[in-house]
Amino acid sequence: MVRAMEFLFDWPEFLPAFERVGKHAGFASEILVETDAGPLVVWRRLGNGRRVYLSAGIHGDEPAGPLALLELMRAGFFACDTDWTICPALNPTGLANACRDNAQGTDLNRDYRLQRSREVTAHAAWLAARAVPDLFVSLHEDWEVSGFYLYEINLGADDPRRAHGIIDAVKPWFPPEAGPEIDGHLAREEGWIFHEAEADVPEGWPEAIFMAKLGCPLSFTFETPSHEAIAARVAAQCAAVRAACRVF
Ligand SMILES: [Zn+2]
Repeated sequence: MVRAMEFLFDWPEFLPAFERVGKHAGFASEILVETDAGPLVVWRRLGNGRRVYLSAGIHGDEPAGPLALLELMRAGFFACDTDWTICPALNPTGLANACRDNAQGTDLNRDYRLQRSREVTAHAAWLAARAVPDLFVSLHEDWEVSGFYLYEINLGADDPRRAHGIIDAVKPWFPPEAGPEIDGHLAREEGWIFHEAEADVPEGWPEAIFMAKLGCPLSFTFETPSHEAIAARVAAQCAAVRAACRVF
């Protein structure tokens, strides 16, 4: 499907660009699996503080997330007292083709239970072998909305200031998506889906459910409106990540 004003993501340039700024910021890379469109790479920088894991690019037609993580890396956002794990481009073949699914037609973000794809099999094994992060943030986009919204999965104490802080930080670019229903879920407030730690489809676990099952106590999934200008979407994702790490 051809979409009007679609932004063309420069996949061949993305990994080299991320490597340049990531190494400069003291991050080390590890290749989890090779694909026909290049490696699936995780970036780590150890720290003594809380463990934060950021993920993007699992849907290949959602470029704002990978670009926001690149921009945050360029901007020197990643503080030294935090233990960082970053997967900026989880679906190399999807990103190369600007398609949601990988080249085999699998939606990787529904594959964390059955793990039929090579990408998710490698990624899930890598995640499960490491200390569970204190915070998981995943960056997505949505073609069917005009505002910003987030999913929160919270295994601990309820604290609405977190979601409010993130939604407020994004308001210069996008209003919170209006309810009462967002992406098939009854919103807790405008822009905010408070989701149980169970998948909507029992066998179709997304990454956020997998992280909750591993015991990650708090996760946010951000969704920016795909029809809007790419610069605003990237800026909104950056603001949301900054706010999530601040309010956490
Ligand atoms: Zn997505």
